[in-house]
Amino acid sequence: SNNTAADHNFSFTARLETQNTLSITMPSFLITGSSRGLGLAFATELLKTPANKVIATARNTAGSAGLQALATKYTKNRLVLIDLDVTNPTSIKNAVVEAEKHLPDGLDNLISNAGIATDPLASFDNLDLDDLKKEVEFNTTTPINIIRGFLPLIRKGNAKKILVVTSQLGSIEIGFHMVNLSNAYSVAKAALNMLIRKWSPVLKSEGITAVLIHPGWVGDTDMGSSIADWVAQNAPDLRSVPEEESAEGCMKVLGKATLEDAGLFYNFDGTKIPW
Ligand code: NDP
Repeated sequence: SNNTAADHNFSFTARLETQNTLSITMPSFLITGSSRGLGLAFATELLKTPANKVIATARNTAGSAGLQALATKYTKNRLVLIDLDVTNPTSIKNAVVEAEKHLPDGLDNLISNAGIATDPLASFDNLDLDDLKKEVEFNTTTPINIIRGFLPLIRKGNAKKILVVTSQLGSIEIGFHMVNLSNAYSVAKAALNMLIRKWSPVLKSEGITAVLIHPGWVGDTDMGSSIADWVAQNAPDLRSVPEEESAEGCMKVLGKATLEDAGLFYNFDGTKIPW
């Protein structure tokens, strides 16, 4: 009977240890702009893996039907919703404090996804310069503030990865061939690409992998659908990638990324995008 008691105690301890180990190794992800579109698709995709913990942020999480639907399906241990306006430094500060409460072991993966697009069909002749400024400001200041804000949590994390959603329109090479499409947006995403390209070796020196990704043309999102007419007239062979397929591909690229990938520019399918 002594043996039985000892065995019992042993298995009890082992089970506790297993639980501790599980909570310690639960990979964590924080996504910006997850109210709808690709950000929501990333959260949905990541939650399919039972070990993943997802912090889905948006300007107004309570007002997002998509996030509220997800919240009914997953426990607080798997999915946490936090309000975060990426253009507002105070909001970022508050979100970091809130996220930290749910991330005792730091943040493994930061996904900078929130994006804006002004009139995609404005030509250089009549481009609104306030739109241009707004786009450039958004794509340069918000990633800096978001990455700076979450860096202490990323440093504490295990995976130490940052995925930045950009666009192939920000490729100098590809933008050249997409005439009069999203001119302000292209200039802004090119700036974002250089920002991450320049920052990545510095981040790499402390073990952090920052990668740029083009999610494909995802014609079903609000942003993607805004260029459907241009595509139909100018690039009829461009395939609209379903949200789920794009999200699966982007999350696979993130999962596979190692320090060797720091500063690289990937397509959602794992191929490289030219600069
Ligand atoms: P959507 O327009 O469908 O969604 C944009 C998301 O960004 C929304 O969740 C929106 O939140 C959020 N957002 C906007 N401003 C802020 C802010 N200040 N703070 C927090 N969140 C904000 O776009 P997509 O899902 O299509 O695009 C997602 C990313 O993918 C963007 O970076 C975009 O540039 C990029 N991309 C998209 C492509 C496509 O074909 N769809 C192609 C290439 C790149 P809210 O609901 O509060 O407005």
